[in-house]
Amino acid sequence: MYDVIIIGAGVSGAAAARELSRYHVNACVLEREEDVCCGTSKANSAIVHAGFDAAEGSLMAKLNVEGNQMMPELSKELDFPFKQCGSFVVCLDEESLPGLYALYERGVKNGVKDMEVITDKARIHEMEPNLADEVVAVLYAPTAGIVCPFHLNIALAENAYTNGIDFKFHTEVRTIEKMEGGWRLQTSQGTYETRYVVNAAGVHADKFHNMVSAEKIHITPRRGDYCLLDKSAGSHVSRTIFALPGKYGKGVLVSPTVHGNLIVGPTAIDIEDKEATATTRAGLDEVITKAGMNVKDLPMRQVITSFAGLRAHEDNHEFIIKELPDAPGFVDCAGIESPGLTSCPAIGKMVAEILREKLSLTPNPDFKGERKGLLDPDTLTKEERAELIRKDPAYGNIICRCEMVTEGEILDAIHRPLGAKSLDGIKRRTRAGMGRCQAGFCSPRSMELLHRELGIPMTEITKSGGASKIAVGTNKDRI
Ligand SMILES: Cc1cc2nc3c(=O)[nH]c(=O)nc-3n(C[C@H](O)[C@H](O)[C@H](O)COP(=O)(O)OP(=O)(O)OC[C@H]3O[C@@H](n4cnc5c(N)ncnc54)[C@H](O)[C@@H]3O)c2cc1C
Repeated sequence: MYDVIIIGAGVSGAAAARELSRYHVNACVLEREEDVCCGTSKANSAIVHAGFDAAEGSLMAKLNVEGNQMMPELSKELDFPFKQCGSFVVCLDEESLPGLYALYERGVKNGVKDMEVITDKARIHEMEPNLADEVVAVLYAPTAGIVCPFHLNIALAENAYTNGIDFKFHTEVRTIEKMEGGWRLQTSQGTYETRYVVNAAGVHADKFHNMVSAEKIHITPRRGDYCLLDKSAGSHVSRTIFALPGKYGKGVLVSPTVHGNLIVGPTAIDIEDKEATATTRAGLDEVITKAGMNVKDLPMRQVITSFAGLRAHEDNHEFIIKELPDAPGFVDCAGIESPGLTSCPAIGKMVAEILREKLSLTPNPDFKGERKGLLDPDTLTKEERAELIRKDPAYGNIICRCEMVTEGEILDAIHRPLGAKSLDGIKRRTRAGMGRCQAGFCSPRSMELLHRELGIPMTEITKSGGASKIAVGTNKDRI
C-alpha cells in the first residue's frame, strides 16, 4: 500500500511529487499516457505570469506570485530554460486606460513587484518597436517571464523520480473507492491501494473529485488555439505582449519563446469534449486577426505549426487545493487553469505541506534538489564541442537539421531517468522535430535510434504512445 498516489504527471502532479520527495514517503504517480507532460502542460503559452491578473485575495493570485518568485531559482536548480523577459499589457485607446490602471492596482495588491504604467509613447516604441502605432499606454511587468513547459515538467518529474517517487505510465485510473485506512484505485493496469490520493488529473479532475465528494465541482475544457512562428520571427517582440483582458481571460498574446520562436494565441473557446485538442480554422483565424491588433507587421507567413491546449476551467475560476472535508485522505489539485504553469512550484509545495502534516512525514536525508538537463552542444565553445565529439562521436552526428539536434542528445534523452520512448518524447526533450520542417527529415532517424536503443520493433514505435504507430511494415512486405 502506498502512502500517496498522485493521479496525473502534468506540472501539478510532477511538482507535488518533487516536493513530496523531500520526505520519507512511499509514493507513486499514475499517468494514463506514455510519458510526463502529455496533457495541458504541453500546450500553453509558456508564460511565467507576473500575477496582476488573478482576483485579489484568491489562491490563484497567491500561488501565481509565489510561483513567479520561485521560478528563477528553480530553473537553476533543475536546469530548465527560463527567461525573465518581462511583459506588456497594451492599451490602445484612452477609454480603456482605467482598465489598465485597475490591473496595475490589482497587481500591487497581489504583491507583484516593480510594475509600471508607461504612457510615454516614444519610450514604449523604443522598448518594443513593433507595437501597434495606436498604443496609448502599457502596463510593464518586468518580473514576467517565459519558460520551456516541457523541460519544466520533465525536470520536476525526473528529480522526483531520482529522489524515490515511482512513476507508472499507461496507467489510467478508472474508479476510486474508500477502503479501510485509505483508497482503492481501479486502473487499466490493475488495483492500487493508498492512504492518500492527490487528484492532479487536469481537465479530468472533476471526475475523480465527484466520485468521492458530495460537494460537486464542474470543469469546462476551454480550448486555446495557437500559431507558432519560425525562429526568423522570434525577435519581432522581446517581451510577452498581452491585450487588455476581456471576458475570456488574457486575450491573444504575442511572445517570444525561450527557444527563439514567436508564439501567437490563444483563443478561449468552451467545448465539451475533454480530448478535443485539434485546432479549428475559425480558431486560428481569430488568433491571426486579434494578434495583429497589438503588434504590427506580424510575419504570419512564418507559421510553422499550430496547436491547441485545454484549460481546466472550474466554474468558480479558482484553484482547488485542499483535503476534501467530506473525503479525508483525498487531496484535490483541481481547476488548475492559467496561471497553473507559473504557479506549479508553489502548488507542489502546498500539496506536499498538506501531506507532510497529515502523514507526519520526516525529511528524506538523501534528497538531492539539483538535476542536470540534457547537454546542449550549442552552449559549448568550438573547442569544447570538438573535444566532446572526439570523446563521443554521437555528438557530431546531426539528426534534426532544423534544430541542429545531435544523436548524442537523443541518446541522452532516451537513457536518462524517465527517458523518451516515442518520437514526441524525444521531441519534447531535445527539440528534434520542432523546427521548420516539423519532423519531416528526422522522424525516421529518431525511429531508428528508438529501435536500436530500446529494442522496439520499427512497426511498434509510436508518435506519442497508444495507437499512434508510424510504420505499418517494410516496402518488401507490401509487394
Ligand atoms: C491555452 C492555454 C494557455 C495557457 N497558458 C499558460 C501560461 O502562459 N502560463 C501559465 O502559467 N499557465 C498557462 N496555462 C495553464 C497551464 O498550462 C495549466 O494550468 C497546467 O499545465 C496544468 O497542469 P496540470 O498538471 O494540472 O494538468 P495537465 O498538464 O493536464 O496534467 C494532468 C495529467 O493527468 C493525466 N490524467 C488525466 N486523467 C487521468 C486518469 N484517469 N488516469 C491517469 N492519469 C490521468 C493526464 O494525462 C495529464 O497528463 C495555459 C493553459 C492553456 C490551455
